[in-house]
Formats: sequence, C-alpha cells, structure tokens
Amino acid sequence: MATMKYCSECGARISRRAKACPKCGFPFDGSAAAKAQGHSSGTVSHSGGKKGSKNSALAAVLSFFIPGLGQAYNGKWMKGIVMFIASMIIWSIVVFGAVFTLGFGIICLPAGFLPNIYAAYDAYQDAK
Ligand SMILES: [Zn+2]
Repeated sequence: MATMKYCSECGARISRRAKACPKCGFPFDGSAAAKAQGHSSGTVSHSGGKKGSKNSALAAVLSFFIPGLGQAYNGKWMKGIVMFIASMIIWSIVVFGAVFTLGFGIICLPAGFLPNIYAAYDAYQDAK
C-alpha cells in the first residue's frame, strides 16, 4: 500500500497521485514541460542581471565634455539631466562673471570645469 512518496525537491511526504508537491510546488507530472515551467522564473532574473559591462572611460569622457551625458550613457537619465542643468547654471555664472568683471572673472573661469570634472568622475564610478 505504498500510496505515499517523497518530494525530490524538499523531501516532503506526499500523495503518489499528487501532481505537484503541496509544500514547495515541485511538479510530479513527469513531463519536461511542467518541470521547465516551474524553473523558468529563475532564468528570467538571470538574463536581467547582466549589467556592469559599461565602458567607464567612455562614460567619463562623455561627462567631461557634456556633464550628464556619461550618466545618461550609464542609464541614469534623471541624474544626467540634473547634472547637465547644474553645470549649465554654474557655467553661465562663471561666463557672465568673466564678462562683467573682466580680470576677476578670468580667475573664476577654471571653476567652470569643476562640474565637468565631477561629472566625469561620477560617470566613471557608476560605469564600473
Ligand atoms: Zn516538495
């Protein structure tokens, strides 16, 4: 009267006529299709997790010339847009300062490169 069997997945004692393990859901139909379906959830997340193969040097170069472009390249669009707007504000202050104060503004010009350098560094870190 062997009407019971053991689940090959979790070892639970279950009815021989059961189509799937009531404890872990492992299918016992014997059909390969049912087995593949039960394990397909594992392969979906696997294909989505293949990231991090970005070119960090390219991201840095992009962000140095146009702050935020490297972030967009990394898939971080919001960060890229915020960085682009911030750098435009800083650049306009520096450029207007250089035009209206002449001598003093020229000293401030290198400050305009700070967001570019920061964006390049940030894009490089994100791409790694
Ligand atoms: Zn089981």
